[in-house]
Amino acid sequence: MSNCRICDNKIKKIIDFGKIALVGNFLKKKRKQKKYKISLNYCVSCKHVQISEKLNPHLLFKNYLWETGISERNIHILKNFLQKLKKLGINKKSKILEIASNDGSFIKILKEKFDCFVIGVDPAKNLAKKANKKNIFTINNFFDYKLSCSIKGKYNKFDYIFARNVIAHIKEPNNIFRGIDNLLKDDGTFILEVPHLLNIFNKNQYDNIFHEHIGFHSLKSIQDLCKANNLKVFDVDKINSQGGSIRCFISKSTSTQLVSKKISVISKIEKKSNLFLNSNLNMFKNKILNHIESLHELILSLKRRKKKISVYGASGKGQALLQFSKMDNNMIDFVFDKSKLKQGLFTPGTNIEIKNPKYISRKNVDYLLILSWNIKEEIIKQEKKFLKEGGKFIIPFPQPKIIN
Ligand SMILES: [Zn+2]
Repeated sequence: MSNCRICDNKIKKIIDFGKIALVGNFLKKKRKQKKYKISLNYCVSCKHVQISEKLNPHLLFKNYLWETGISERNIHILKNFLQKLKKLGINKKSKILEIASNDGSFIKILKEKFDCFVIGVDPAKNLAKKANKKNIFTINNFFDYKLSCSIKGKYNKFDYIFARNVIAHIKEPNNIFRGIDNLLKDDGTFILEVPHLLNIFNKNQYDNIFHEHIGFHSLKSIQDLCKANNLKVFDVDKINSQGGSIRCFISKSTSTQLVSKKISVISKIEKKSNLFLNSNLNMFKNKILNHIESLHELILSLKRRKKKISVYGASGKGQALLQFSKMDNNMIDFVFDKSKLKQGLFTPGTNIEIKNPKYISRKNVDYLLILSWNIKEEIIKQEKKFLKEGGKFIIPFPQPKIIN
């Protein structure tokens, strides 16, 4: 067992999932794949929920197949965000850095809207290349304190630093926060988005647990990281992204920035939900095991009735859920996904062929299990013809449910 990634104290196991293949490791051919241990734990001191396995990040993020630009819903969320950023003071003099900038979609929008200076950092070679092609200068590397020093040497400090959906992926979060403290101007703002632990627990979203998701954050864990690195959270928004996230606005701890009342509101909700109570953390195991059993049973019973079952969404969490609930190409015919990068490949650990959603029809599908459930409305709307012709959807959370 290792120690807490935030405070270095002892951690305690919530659940051991055994071994699964890396959820981003889609294959060109059907074959057996290397699997890695995964378990969920919490820190006995600061209560930070985390996986204990330490994999080489190069295994996980060097060739990343998740593109920001792909979901309509993501684009919509971004547009609302721009309004808030304008109020926060972004203008053409602003210097902006984005950590894990993916294909550059987000900072490209900022550059076009505010005519400001933007730089991205992303470890995935394929995505950094794509961003650079769009004239969004992207450093192809992992962000850490060391890289922050070389960025500072070239570009000095920044007014705004973004880290959207990356904090959960980080092996040594203190190292990243130290790098941000190093690069942020005294009156600068660091904005991060992270899936909220509250939703993962209350809505039983255990499909978020895989090797790429190392830490499961609350406002408290972000505040703990800030405190240790001369930073403070001054505002927080709940956002409807990744099944429910928090967006934290962070300044230097010495800043005179007013602290929003929303901080104490969300802190109270976290405490009231017993997010940091050992007995509640320990109970999560049974909730997960019960859900796995009911989903597996539902699919098995349909299979016994000779129903044709496919999956919609080749997301990382979909790959985790398929593996946790022991469903592979013997139970599931196809996985449909819009991402051209994934079409034609096979799912990791479960060997199911990924196809373009245009092939969804009543001829080959009776039930479509939606594993990208965070965009389920979008998917159902898109596949209304399938529904009209008698096709059915299965939504896995909070409890497996058939929609017809
Ligand atoms: Zn800790």
